[in-house]
Amino acid sequence: MTLASTIDLKFYNKKFLVGVVVLVINLGFGFPAGTNESPADPKRFAIDVVERNADQIATVGDVLYYFGEPGMQEYESSKYLKETLEQIGFKVEVGGAGLPTNVWATWGSGKPVIAIATEMDSLPEGSQTPGSIPRKPLVEGAPGHMEGHNVMAAMSVGAAHAVKKAMEQFKIPGTIVLSIGPAEEQLMSRPYLVRDGYFKDVDAAIITHIADNFATGYGLQNYALIGAKFTFKGRTAHGGVNPWDGKDAVDAVVLMDIGFDKLREHLRPSYRGHRTITNGGVQPNIIPDVGQIWWFIRDANGPWAKENFDKLVNIARGAALMTGTTMEMEPFGAAWPSLGNKAIAEAINKNIESVGMPKWTEDEIKFAKELQKSLGIKEAGLAIQPAPLRAGTQNTSSNDIGDITWNVPTGTLRFPSAVLGVQAHHWTAGITPTLSIAHKGAVVGAKAMAASILDLLTSPELRAAAKKQFDEDTKDMKYFSLLPPGAKPPVDLNKEMMEKYRPAMRKFYLSKKAEFK
Ligand SMILES: [Zn+2]
Repeated sequence: MTLASTIDLKFYNKKFLVGVVVLVINLGFGFPAGTNESPADPKRFAIDVVERNADQIATVGDVLYYFGEPGMQEYESSKYLKETLEQIGFKVEVGGAGLPTNVWATWGSGKPVIAIATEMDSLPEGSQTPGSIPRKPLVEGAPGHMEGHNVMAAMSVGAAHAVKKAMEQFKIPGTIVLSIGPAEEQLMSRPYLVRDGYFKDVDAAIITHIADNFATGYGLQNYALIGAKFTFKGRTAHGGVNPWDGKDAVDAVVLMDIGFDKLREHLRPSYRGHRTITNGGVQPNIIPDVGQIWWFIRDANGPWAKENFDKLVNIARGAALMTGTTMEMEPFGAAWPSLGNKAIAEAINKNIESVGMPKWTEDEIKFAKELQKSLGIKEAGLAIQPAPLRAGTQNTSSNDIGDITWNVPTGTLRFPSAVLGVQAHHWTAGITPTLSIAHKGAVVGAKAMAASILDLLTSPELRAAAKKQFDEDTKDMKYFSLLPPGAKPPVDLNKEMMEKYRPAMRKFYLSKKAEFK
């Protein structure tokens, strides 16, 4: 219902009309209401655009879900996003910054330049049949979306489309950017995008992630991380006959592990250090000539993570020296902690409150509770209220999207497409990303995102406040890249996995096009 239709009701009694107007204001999510033909303001207009494209947003998310592509292998996903965004009218580059599947889409011209940033990758072994609470992979052992990055990319496309429509309708100057980076799960792409200057002309950004609530926040939100694979090379020999002729590369791996354990006592209590041995030899009677260990080193900020990591590199050098092997280091992931901008968070929060939560059906809540029951967690159903605005608590996970936030004033937006308490990176989080719960969460998310991007495009005051906050937040700690000089992204990451599983996964691909209007 619109304000125009209430005017036709003027012959009804006053009390009734007041009731209708109140109802209209409620339905209007607090934004000024216009008519269907001429909405009163760009935000209201954009929200209507998102609403009428709800099915298209769902289609994009569902198609990406079934591609189920892990980091650096998002070839079908990026191709589909390119086609969809081009149909909407965006200019789309796939493959920037040495990342074959990176999606960088722009529309408009000149300043201000406002970006939406998110990701699209799945996780190894995440394959699951949507809607099935018992474990039932679509393809046994295959990767799949057990975090809902598919929904994030879809929500962002829906928001970008709505912003573009509003910019056209209201002749709003500026440029909108949609950045969908590959391999977030291995913290791989954003440091390269930043290093190659993709964000240097961006005035402000909003990063988004799926969540079990509807929220924004500010301040430091997670941890810095540096990852690297260390490969030791030695010489093979017979373990029983002439082991003295061998140079044991796995000994170097083990010594590096012990060396780091000795270091642990001398690191700040905030550090995290974890590793997996990715090559541990072939069989006991062959002295291994190759050994490899992959480390993630974290701390509460970039400089501290770098300090810890440099010590780890020295330990690797020592291990090579002790064993007579050679050592090669390949950077494998880097991230600054995400820094949420308070001024932008306040603007986002107003939009979250205006848009409000999805109206969940009884069936959706019942399903959520069944899923929670199967996990033995609190049967809390689905979030029914947006989370209050507050400073984020700094958790110890990492997201390479953090690198953007130290270069551009950035807000964060979490949208309610997941079930309360269900943890990502577990196959149960792969049950819902194509269900109506995810679809509806993406619609409210896209509405709040579009409204907030329009705030940034149309309000010089907001942009100035965001910049002032950014300067304040970064005055004592300046960004530097955590990538070693000359680092190249590992483009073959997950390649073998996809060569193995893609043929079987292909059978589940949806041949559906999203036609935004
Ligand atoms: Zn994620």
